[in-house]
Amino acid sequence: MVIANRALRDDLMKTERYTILLILMALSLFSVTAAGQNQRVLAQAERTTGDRFSVTAKTPRGANVIAVKRPSSEVLRAIDKGLTDLFAVARRNRYRNRLNYADYTIYVGKADRTNDADGNYSPAIAIGSAQYAGTVFDKGGYMYVAGMVLSNEPCAFLVPDHVKNFKLLSDYVRYEGEHLVLYHNDRRRYAATADHSRGGSHPILQ
Ligand SMILES: [Zn+2]
Repeated sequence: MVIANRALRDDLMKTERYTILLILMALSLFSVTAAGQNQRVLAQAERTTGDRFSVTAKTPRGANVIAVKRPSSEVLRAIDKGLTDLFAVARRNRYRNRLNYADYTIYVGKADRTNDADGNYSPAIAIGSAQYAGTVFDKGGYMYVAGMVLSNEPCAFLVPDHVKNFKLLSDYVRYEGEHLVLYHNDRRRYAATADHSRGGSHPILQ
């Protein structure tokens, strides 16, 4: 009886060890995959902007930031504000997925221009025109963007660095985030609003 119990106990312990081993293997596979995805997004950010993103940070509310230079506390707070506004309007639309700050990685790129044609402060990043070639956005092989989704999965987008008017940055964050919230909550609406070369702009969610 005692022996049988011990055998049973040993069996259970073996099963437990096996389970733990499986969980550990799954976790390491997951982190390798996540690291690979993040590498892919980083490479795309650098290819798109021609900049090197070498600084990582977190906003006070836990969003991930990757930047060309150390982001100011105003920039970090503005990112949080943009995400807060995004999550609020997403909830009003009954969307539930990806409403956590940690779900998002924001790439803060170098502003290749600081003012628009009218002289107003409006930081933007120059990127290759791609699908916008020949449209009003095209400035001859490149165009200025105030934001750009880099990856739907994981959720990552690009915005230009700001030194003032941080409300503008919050809006840019909210606007790019709209595409990601729609991708993860309403694929039809996402598809209908993703490409601005066919018209449409922000805010999408009311
Ligand atoms: Zn957009």
